[in-house]
Amino acid sequence: MKAETSRRTILAGGSAAAGASLLGGCVQPTMAGMLDGADWRRGHRLRDGSFPAPDGPVQDIDVVIAGGGVAGLATGWRLADAGFANFTLFELEDRTGGNARSGRNAVSAYPLGAHYLPVPNRDAAALRYMLRSFGMIVGDAPDGPVYDPYQLCADLEERLLWRGEWQEGLFPQSGLPSGQQAQRQRFDQSMDYFRRAVGLDGRPAFTIPSVLSSVDPRFTALDRLNFADWLDSEGFTAPALRAYLRYCCRDDYGAEPEDVSAWAGIHYFAARRGWAANGDGDRELTWPEGNDRLASLMAARIHSNLRPAHTVFRLAVTAEGRAELDVFDHTAGRSRRLRAKVAILAMPHFVAARVAPSVCSPGGLSYAPWVVANVTVSRPPEGKGVPLAWDNVSTASDALGYVVATHQTTSAALGPTVLTWYMPLSRETPQVARKIMLTRSLERWQEIVRADMLAMNPDLDGAIERIDVWRWGHAMIRPTPGFLTDPARLAARSAHPPVLFAHSDLSGLSLFEEAHHHGVAAAEMALTHLGHAFESIA
Ligand SMILES: Cc1cc2nc3c(=O)[nH]c(=O)nc-3n(C[C@H](O)[C@H](O)[C@H](O)COP(=O)(O)OP(=O)(O)OC[C@H]3O[C@@H](n4cnc5c(N)ncnc54)[C@H](O)[C@@H]3O)c2cc1C
Repeated sequence: MKAETSRRTILAGGSAAAGASLLGGCVQPTMAGMLDGADWRRGHRLRDGSFPAPDGPVQDIDVVIAGGGVAGLATGWRLADAGFANFTLFELEDRTGGNARSGRNAVSAYPLGAHYLPVPNRDAAALRYMLRSFGMIVGDAPDGPVYDPYQLCADLEERLLWRGEWQEGLFPQSGLPSGQQAQRQRFDQSMDYFRRAVGLDGRPAFTIPSVLSSVDPRFTALDRLNFADWLDSEGFTAPALRAYLRYCCRDDYGAEPEDVSAWAGIHYFAARRGWAANGDGDRELTWPEGNDRLASLMAARIHSNLRPAHTVFRLAVTAEGRAELDVFDHTAGRSRRLRAKVAILAMPHFVAARVAPSVCSPGGLSYAPWVVANVTVSRPPEGKGVPLAWDNVSTASDALGYVVATHQTTSAALGPTVLTWYMPLSRETPQVARKIMLTRSLERWQEIVRADMLAMNPDLDGAIERIDVWRWGHAMIRPTPGFLTDPARLAARSAHPPVLFAHSDLSGLSLFEEAHHHGVAAAEMALTHLGHAFESIA
């Protein structure tokens, strides 16, 4: 076991592990589980700058990718797909995948972060190309690509606990006054208008990848307002609608509607036009391990180029126009220097600004902290109303509910499973929330998660075997008002070799499709710069 695993709190054993904690006045046996998360010690070391000076000869290389999340992996995958091999990908953590990493126990694989990919838009050509190469798109029909049905989320996709009964979908379908239902319909019509809207530049007002969206000020001006104010100004004030929209903002952006740009709030509803045959356009792709299925497939393609447990801690541009990078090897405890024709920073923007201050300024970007808990249960949850869905949400909870890791397998309805519980810490400022997150004990998190799970599913009493808690301090960028014109983000987007950027932060929206787009774009720009012949897939 490496020394750094001491940051983990481990309570070994089964549900009857030794020890006890006070809960609700009665003594509960301590729950098995582990407290873990993104490696903040390695991250903070970048801030403190305590790395040894590089030793050994300087290594010359064509391309360095710094960061092995979805964007960095997509960069490497695209280079390899174009027949280009002279590159190395350095990843700070022991494993690649970034926020799309997963865990596994004896019951199932499960997500630690990103868990689904909606069927991509027609605009996402490079992503479709990759899904086809992975065998997830299996053919073409007149109405669009044919997806392998086993990759699409099985029925039931979503259910909502509303007034004690589970209903299909995420918006209450019964028991609402007609005025509230009417507002929901008017909201849907409004989003439909934005979904169809085209700017004076001929581009869709909202699409994914977002760089292909219109820059017509009629739409981009929405970025000056926050989503809550825009909803107020449009008369969308019905409590059930506002609760649903709050859920959506927290689900995609980890932030409250008051902190989300109105452009981003509308983007959530208006940008998706999934393109697929058989009416599958509004479905989602998901796997037990979540988006790590895709991250791992990309990583497998470039296995020999990957260097996990390596932090890129300094980048500067030399007088000869090369990118000079200093990299710390966490296993060997040594630093070395590389000189690259192109360096692609596929790390969050706030980290890139620290690593390469001469070419990247921090800007006004902020990041949402999230907690994800994987709850292993001896039997699947039930409940009054519709049966268990993949995604299960309660209107009475401040968390975002849970997804079922074994939903895609036929045995899901019978045996033990893992339920992945999500919670963005959006009520506090990110700084305060991060402090809470780092100081709260495993036992306290387990109490919170257990109480929330049992409030949704009292039938799980006695069935919870362990709760593993994962913390993301800087989980995702928050698209706050003004993010569209943030100069630091725009400068990073228009960078040229020798230093390029590739991360979902370039879009300001933390989505698989955005990360993938920027990874592919950076790879193709690097190939052009190096004079390597290829056919663009973008
Ligand atoms: C809880 C949670 C749930 C989510 N759910 C979904 C979902 O269901 N669907 C979806 O589309 N999106 C989801 N997301 C968003 C997800 O973040 C993006 O989809 C995508 O995975 C982001 O990829 P990225 O490469 O842009 O960034 P990251 O995942 O942030 O990758 C950056 C990588 O760079 C590494 N790195 C940082 N600094 C250095 C350094 N100095 N040297 C070397 N390496 C470094 C990091 O360790 C990391 O691996 C979720 C995010 C979270 C946190």
